[in-house]
Amino acid sequence: MKHRIVLLGAGYAGAYTAGILARRLSPADTEITVVNAEPDFVQRMRLHQLAAGQEIAAPKLADVFAGTGIRLRLARVTAVDPERRVVAVAHADGGSGELGYDTLFYALGSRVADHGVPGVAENAFDVAGRPSALTLRERLDGLERRGAGGSVLVVGDGLTGIETATEIAESRPGLPVTLVARGELGARLAVGAGGHLRRACDRLGITVLEHTTVEAVEATRVLCADGTALASDATVWAAGFAVSPIAAAGGLEVTANGRIVVDRTMRSLSHPDVYAVGDSAHAIGDNGRPLPMSCASAGYTGRQATDAIVGRLTGRGIENTRLVYAYNAISLGRRDGILQRVDDEARPRPTYVGGRKAARIKWGIVTAALWSSSHPTFGLPRRTRRLAAVPDGSAHTPAGQAVA
Ligand SMILES: Cc1cc2nc3c(=O)[nH]c(=O)nc-3n(C[C@H](O)[C@H](O)[C@H](O)COP(=O)(O)OP(=O)(O)OC[C@H]3O[C@@H](n4cnc5c(N)ncnc54)[C@H](O)[C@@H]3O)c2cc1C
Repeated sequence: MKHRIVLLGAGYAGAYTAGILARRLSPADTEITVVNAEPDFVQRMRLHQLAAGQEIAAPKLADVFAGTGIRLRLARVTAVDPERRVVAVAHADGGSGELGYDTLFYALGSRVADHGVPGVAENAFDVAGRPSALTLRERLDGLERRGAGGSVLVVGDGLTGIETATEIAESRPGLPVTLVARGELGARLAVGAGGHLRRACDRLGITVLEHTTVEAVEATRVLCADGTALASDATVWAAGFAVSPIAAAGGLEVTANGRIVVDRTMRSLSHPDVYAVGDSAHAIGDNGRPLPMSCASAGYTGRQATDAIVGRLTGRGIENTRLVYAYNAISLGRRDGILQRVDDEARPRPTYVGGRKAARIKWGIVTAALWSSSHPTFGLPRRTRRLAAVPDGSAHTPAGQAVA
């Protein structure tokens, strides 16, 4: 029997690593299946652009994996059962089924976090997934058609909130945009970059409300902790990401916020047949701190996990690949941006790159991420590794084996 690797989620972490596994393991004894809910590769890093009205490429996953030997199953994962080693899936036509695995690669990403704030689910828009970004886009189209400037309120001044507010303000100058920050605007930036951000908001006509906590979202306004109400025709909730409850419900060891706890090789601490990467994994970086949810972390954790899976299955050593968090690249519309490096303690370094140069660097990052995800086997040597014979005959590394 072939060793069954089932990979959940074909986002930045999953699509690319499926390709590496397909190139490095022999199809004679491994079978790789990717399960993804949507038929296209979604460029999450550009969903604020999609919401703002721009066209964003979405390559078909069937084309992405054509000729790689990877099986694609378009279905929504509804549960994992790591004791029985099965994944439950639901299909768009209402059908459902189960998939058995020998190694599970969990890369289901993240979604918007409402933090339990009343009214967010019912009344707020978000850019965390493509369907919700398209719903926001429709709403903004409607406000523009209506004329007389319906207002847009973006809650959250993290990277996603900043990118969303600036993108909408630049693409839709007829809509007044307000950015709500719980503390001081751009608190995660150094002084210089923070000043650059303020100037960009001024230039784009964005109203910035600092030290403001939103406690409830209604259809046409938000209610703040200080008792004020802010009118809003489209409230965009950008106050962070959360992971799906699927891993916790399946009994995998997770952190308080539901991310799967993994060792240095991205192997689940509670279930050694399971590897987790990207936003879904609580991985500790080389600086001893949890890696942030980011496209870069998806790449680093994916590379480490594939190295570990191939190393263990073929009986070779496992290299510790790099797990670093080095910078934030933030777009401020299409012609401006900020590249803010961070130190080993994840604090912003004093210098930054701003303006068109930073916008070009950011464009390069998203383009490279799209290229590597949509050409997952490009440039990699052909499959060379057969599985190692192990004593139980299952070609499966026993739980708890020491990492080389
Ligand atoms: C608007 C926006 C801007 C961003 N900008 C940046 C940035 O500038 N830099 C940066 O580093 N990061 C950025 N991020 C964060 C970055 O996109 C994520 O950290 C990254 O996508 C994580 O990769 P991943 O593979 O773990 O998850 P994802 O890329 O989200 O992939 C998860 C995949 O799993 C699929 N999936 C999810 N649930 C299910 C299910 N139940 N069943 C089947 N399939 C499922 C999804 O369809 C998707 O294909 C941004 C995010 C957003 C939303």
